[in-house]
Amino acid sequence: MKILLLGKNGQVGWELQRSLAPLGELIALDRNKVDGLCGDLSDLGALRATIQQVKPDIIVNAAAYTAVDKAESETELADLVNGRASQLLADEAAILGAWLIHYSTDYVFSGQGDTPWQETDEVSPVNHYGTSKLAGEQAIIASGCKYLIFRTSWVYGARGNNFAKTMLRLAKDRETLNVIADQVGAPTGADLIADVTALAIQQILQRPELAGLYHLTASGEVSWHGYASYVIGFAQANGEPLAVRAINPIETSDYPTPARRPLNSRLNTQKLRDNFSLHLLDWQTGVTRMLREVLNK
Ligand code: NDP
Repeated sequence: MKILLLGKNGQVGWELQRSLAPLGELIALDRNKVDGLCGDLSDLGALRATIQQVKPDIIVNAAAYTAVDKAESETELADLVNGRASQLLADEAAILGAWLIHYSTDYVFSGQGDTPWQETDEVSPVNHYGTSKLAGEQAIIASGCKYLIFRTSWVYGARGNNFAKTMLRLAKDRETLNVIADQVGAPTGADLIADVTALAIQQILQRPELAGLYHLTASGEVSWHGYASYVIGFAQANGEPLAVRAINPIETSDYPTPARRPLNSRLNTQKLRDNFSLHLLDWQTGVTRMLREVLNK
């Protein structure tokens, strides 16, 4: 079995290089050209030629335009990478009879209320990143290819940049941190996403009727403020020298950004757990593991 992985050096892509390796022959690309193959999602011609040359049984797309604030001004690039490239991957997968595995986001939702979103809930993105990711989802679903789409949230990895690492860096120099307390979600490890992807691939090959859209996050919920407090508390308890003395909760309205953020990022993962018989650990377990890795504790 041949697997084509795109976005191999992102947080999720890096972990997928590990988790997909035992499943078959893995061809992993980033945006650079290697051996005549090109995984640049902004070069649709080269991307199409690459898929036609590789002829994969499974395409796993971990590449995406993920700069949420910049997407408000770079709308065309975000649409190209998250929307039109997804369409191309789906069309090529349909022609080959290949599976397409793709990732999306809680940012397709409005963020209203406090009930965890289900896959069937109405979508209504509040920023351009969310709009571009939704366009990608819709193109894949309409294409007729065999697909799995995993919507996830608040991704972190031991490798790459993320909120937890930013908090650790800021806490080294600043005595006071102000962190948003009215946005709630579930920090989700790139390693968990990659492991679930590999397990799901094994199952869909036996049971193709499991194809579809799924919510995939760690269990539980927390605000950014609670998450920051957890990360910094762990670092302090483990002897990291930090300057921070106070972590103040603030509201989203106190911290204006170019892109609006949804307040309710909770995702209901029942469908994934039921269909694939999976257990999703609480977010603290994964975050603690990542912190032990990055702090070497
Ligand atoms: P990262 O930002 O860590 O990785 C994205 C990867 O995509 C990077 O390696 C980047 O490469 C690559 N990329 C960007 N533009 C292109 C392009 N034109 N051609 C090829 N590669 C490109 O993201 P994550 O691993 O965290 O995200 C994985 C998936 O999860 C994405 O679909 C994302 O939308 C989704 N998601 C992520 C969340 C998060 O909090 N991070 C939350 C919810 C969903 P380079 O470094 O060279 O730019």
